[in-house]
Amino acid sequence: MRTRRALLAGLGTLMGGCAARQTPLPPPAALPRERLAPVRVSRDRVIREVVGLRPYRPSGFVVRKEALGGKTLVHNYGHGGGGISLSWGTARLATALATEEGAAPTAVLGCGVAGLTAARLLQLRGARVTIYTKDTPPDTTSNIAGGLWSPVTVYEKARRTDAFFQQFVDASRFSFRYFQYLTGRGYGVRWTPVYYLHPEPGRDSISPTGAMEGISDLFRDVRRVDGPDNPFGTPGGQRVMTLLIEPYTFLDALLRDFFAAGGKLEVREFRDRGEVEALPEPMIVNSTGLGARALFGDEELMPIKGQLVFLLPQPEVDYMTVGPSGIYMFPRKDGILLGGTHERGEWSLDPDPAQSERILNDSARLFGAMA
Ligand SMILES: Cc1cc2nc3c(=O)[nH]c(=O)nc-3n(C[C@H](O)[C@H](O)[C@H](O)COP(=O)(O)OP(=O)(O)OC[C@H]3O[C@@H](n4cnc5c(N)ncnc54)[C@H](O)[C@@H]3O)c2cc1C
Repeated sequence: MRTRRALLAGLGTLMGGCAARQTPLPPPAALPRERLAPVRVSRDRVIREVVGLRPYRPSGFVVRKEALGGKTLVHNYGHGGGGISLSWGTARLATALATEEGAAPTAVLGCGVAGLTAARLLQLRGARVTIYTKDTPPDTTSNIAGGLWSPVTVYEKARRTDAFFQQFVDASRFSFRYFQYLTGRGYGVRWTPVYYLHPEPGRDSISPTGAMEGISDLFRDVRRVDGPDNPFGTPGGQRVMTLLIEPYTFLDALLRDFFAAGGKLEVREFRDRGEVEALPEPMIVNSTGLGARALFGDEELMPIKGQLVFLLPQPEVDYMTVGPSGIYMFPRKDGILLGGTHERGEWSLDPDPAQSERILNDSARLFGAMA
């Protein structure tokens, strides 16, 4: 069994390794047409429709430290559409702030992916951790997430500061590395190719100046799938290797690890800062997601509603698709996930039948065109 010292040494190596930047890769080569199992899209294969609210801030997530009465409060919230992808990375930033003066008994507010990953890294730093939360898995937004490793819809370029962008790049790199260590170990994480599909040839989803700015070199085996080589018949596309994270498996595994390491959990809702300040722990990490808007008065934080349709599982489908026209498909163990929607400022948790219809029709057209 590994000692705590060995675990901490491992964590240090991992963190140090993330500082290294990779050299730019050559332009992607074409990928000869692959034979892929089509997704079978029909109304009678639908097993559920779900909605989640992405906790979005146009200027990006918040990881910073402040005083709360005689205590210290470290924020770690507002990850938008990339909270699973960024989780280990922002947890690491928050953990570094929370343990600057040693590992004090720590309260983590929230039991979604941000809270659980922070709780685990704090434990590995030697902190005694109690999670206080209104909801637990499977009833968090983090359970609704699709699970593609791709930190997008996290900030608006015009609103980001240099300091935030550095945090984003550091968090993305650390997180991507950390998830790789979890593959094949019961955490629901696996390498899976994703096809980015475009209505015209030559467009890049993985480019150093697009949505993956600062992290595009993380994506491996990037290949063009334009024209006749495209198995879906869309004029443009790229195929890339990335990770698929199954949220139900991953969050359960984190909870199991948390309890095995002596963590405590109390179900309760906080209504204001005063209730938070009254906690017995001197160190508090705020991972309340969208809940931080009301609890800490962050008016920039807003929901982006996302709706998903699940079909019966198809184990033979071993690739993901993103696009064209805003649809996506991830082949999860708990069903074939079809997305999606991005409705800014929308608080409703009710599925919209018209959106489900659109997702199903567009998906049926895409997978029906596969030869
Ligand atoms: C449809 C959809 C698809 C997505 N797909 C992806 C994807 O493919 N990849 C990806 O990386 N991300 C994806 N995301 C984004 C991801 O789900 C979020 O960024 C992430 O779940 C946020 O995690 P969190 O822990 O901050 O919030 P949450 O999971 O919402 O957890 C917040 C926790 O705080 C607790 N809490 C809140 N307020 C209070 C309070 N007042 N008192 C006590 N407890 C409180 C809650 O009960 C909960 O336990 C998707 C999101 C949606 C909706």
